[in-house]
Amino acid sequence: MQALTAGQIAELTGGSLWLGSSSHGLVNAIVIDSRNILSPVNSLFVALKGAKFDGHEFIEEVYQQGLRCFLVSPSFDRSPYSEGTFVVVEDTHKALQDLAAYQRKLFLGPLIAITGSNGKTIVKEWLGQVLGLHFSVAKSPKSYNSQVGVPLSVFGIEQHHQVAIMEAGISKVGEMANLEKILQPQLGVFTNIGTAHEEGFGSEMQKLEEKMSLFANCSFIIYRKDQQRVAGLFEKQCSAERLISWSDSPGADFTFTVKKESGRSKILMMRSDLSVYTFWVPFVDEASLENIRHVITAALSLGMENAAVQKGLDHLKAVDMRLTLKPGINQCLLIDDTYNNDLAGLKLALDFMAAQRPKNRKILILSDLLQVGEKERVYEEIGQLCSYYQIDYLIGVGNEIHMVQKTFNGSTLFFSGTKELVSQLESDFFNNDLVLITGARSFGFEEIVIRLQQRVHGTTLEINLNALTHNYNFYKSKLKADTRVMVMVKAFAYGGGAAEIANHLQQLKADYLAVAYTDEGISLREEGINLPVMVLNPVQESFLHMVKNNLEPVVYSAAFFRQLGIYCQQNEHRLKIHLDLDTGMHRLGFEESEIEGLINLLHEFPQLEVASIYTHLAGADEEIHGEYTLHQLEQFTKMAKDITRTLDYKPIIHALNSAGISRYPNHQFDMVRLGIGLYGVEVSGIYEGKLKPVSTLKTTISQIKYLSKGQTIGYSRKGIMEKDGKIATIAIGYADGFDRRFSNGIGYVMVNGKQAKVIGNVCMDMTMVDVSDIEAKQGDEVIIYGPEISLKDLSQRIGTIPYELLTNISSRVKRVYYLD
Ligand SMILES: *Cc1c(COP(=O)(O)O)cnc(C)c1O
Repeated sequence: MQALTAGQIAELTGGSLWLGSSSHGLVNAIVIDSRNILSPVNSLFVALKGAKFDGHEFIEEVYQQGLRCFLVSPSFDRSPYSEGTFVVVEDTHKALQDLAAYQRKLFLGPLIAITGSNGKTIVKEWLGQVLGLHFSVAKSPKSYNSQVGVPLSVFGIEQHHQVAIMEAGISKVGEMANLEKILQPQLGVFTNIGTAHEEGFGSEMQKLEEKMSLFANCSFIIYRKDQQRVAGLFEKQCSAERLISWSDSPGADFTFTVKKESGRSKILMMRSDLSVYTFWVPFVDEASLENIRHVITAALSLGMENAAVQKGLDHLKAVDMRLTLKPGINQCLLIDDTYNNDLAGLKLALDFMAAQRPKNRKILILSDLLQVGEKERVYEEIGQLCSYYQIDYLIGVGNEIHMVQKTFNGSTLFFSGTKELVSQLESDFFNNDLVLITGARSFGFEEIVIRLQQRVHGTTLEINLNALTHNYNFYKSKLKADTRVMVMVKAFAYGGGAAEIANHLQQLKADYLAVAYTDEGISLREEGINLPVMVLNPVQESFLHMVKNNLEPVVYSAAFFRQLGIYCQQNEHRLKIHLDLDTGMHRLGFEESEIEGLINLLHEFPQLEVASIYTHLAGADEEIHGEYTLHQLEQFTKMAKDITRTLDYKPIIHALNSAGISRYPNHQFDMVRLGIGLYGVEVSGIYEGKLKPVSTLKTTISQIKYLSKGQTIGYSRKGIMEKDGKIATIAIGYADGFDRRFSNGIGYVMVNGKQAKVIGNVCMDMTMVDVSDIEAKQGDEVIIYGPEISLKDLSQRIGTIPYELLTNISSRVKRVYYLD
């Protein structure tokens, strides 16, 4: 960004300036995250206050790193930081936006803003690729479209850029006006408006008007005329010469007729001057086809030639923009960012890499960047990033990437192309490493990913880490500021994969983890997790491991207490323990009559320190058990007091599970134990719709068969064709965790957006589904459950609960983690 003095920053934000004793130079970078500071001397730290965090709390840490210029709120105590220069403003969010608006004004090229309910990120990425063939393009990284993401995106616009493409998203009324002030777009693209009710908006019309306000001062607005409410509103509010519309039917500026052929589509375009042109695109699904027509319209409106646009389309794919983490060969962990190709995206991927649990080496496989413009400077910066993020090994592909050596002196290996890399690099080069793979599309890095990943085909469980964060923060928002959170990661983190989820929770600063068995705790330690871990069900044989791995057992009986106490006494160990009190669950735990004996034991064995005391509720999810639950909580309060009264220290007191947090927020005590809610299932029903689904279980179609009426399907010939039709055999069975009770029409899966019922019995590794009325072919993706199929509904169909479906997924199913 354009360099500024502290004085200018104060002036632009209307803040007051407090100069520190260290003479302060120019600021040319803005940071909001203490983990993310490349060059402290030139950076301004903006302390943002969010619902769950407060940037002011990190100033100490940032100051230690050598940063000296800060934007803070009036209540912040600056006195310990005598060298620091402070700009003090009422609202740091607004100040950040003011700075962005100023930077925006310095950019003279056209700025294209994209908004709408769906497709913003894809339209932005695709348009960026098409325009990128001719121009140097700045675009917002990933889906940075929020009140904070938009300003940060604007700071990424550099002098050599010729066009900027930014997306804007909002969650409540009034926000778009801020984004408009920052972006001041000349060209707007409105992707579409969803029908789903979005929280934060009174009505659909209000949502639409709010989104449209981004374009209040645009010279041109692109929209789809077939979206009647969108078209109606634009055509009423804006003069005709500002509007550029496209449609399936005549009457718009661009009329597109789509013909789908096997795997690709032909788009016949007619302009209002009756000139025609035919585009080809490599996909057939409706969402991509809508997005691409926005892209074509925008590129042509910016003056590109038909043939040049087609050239850009040739390279497109239905991209997976997500950053994914997957198991690799030789115990490696792969971060797949195959389709990323710019500096901003690379930074995000390196950040994600830095957040993973430690492995042997950090290896980065990176291609040439195909950004137009100052090559040398870009590679220098990449080299600096590699040093900063402590990359051990850089494997470069292309003719230019070696330029990073100027600023990076770690180990390097260079290949002229992807083929060379794949044929020359032996797979035993990789061993227990963390490997980030990121490169320009034309390098075809998918091939490297295929080579390095474990288990390429079959069924995958995808875990959305952003959704996990959302759910964690949702429960946090129901808690008092000082209530701690223990997260249950027992049973492989409810099937999601203990190590990665525990690592993510460590990033989120959860306070405690809990597992069922000592073995689960040991493997968390082996994976580098260092949060305190409570073990629900320890056994005597595991005492040594417990001590060695710093795990904290639950003690639920006097006999067990004595065994553990004697063991620690004899071996001169101290151990933290957790006391389980039985107030009505009748599973494990001390009953009221045993409390006195327990107190005596506590004094007999002082080497066992009570870290916490808890009880477990038997019916927190259902209102009908309200009286019982309140009685449990009351009894627990009394029993816990009887114990703590005799101790000269203060254990953590806790009772609530996920449903308990929703239903009994007044009984948080010192900590809660979050389980199923984190994984996206709201069992109490009170906050239905507030959580985000975390996991998607997917497989593929192995074969399609055409059968005639009366033919039978599968074992015991239970499935019968009721009419002529076709079935798909999918690569999942009960051994993967697809319950056999889904047989014979009880269960269904989603194939290309449509429900397909199970036909016949579920087999061990395969299942047949009826796709008579669905367009489907071998290799197509099949969703077993995910955002569009609710786990609650599925589990009810076979008389069980979501917990069982989640935890039944076999370990042979590959887990993939992603950020969207
Ligand atoms: C599993 C478990 C929890 C979490 O329960 P959810 O219903 O998944 O929130 C809490 N406490 C104990 C003791 C548990 O065993």
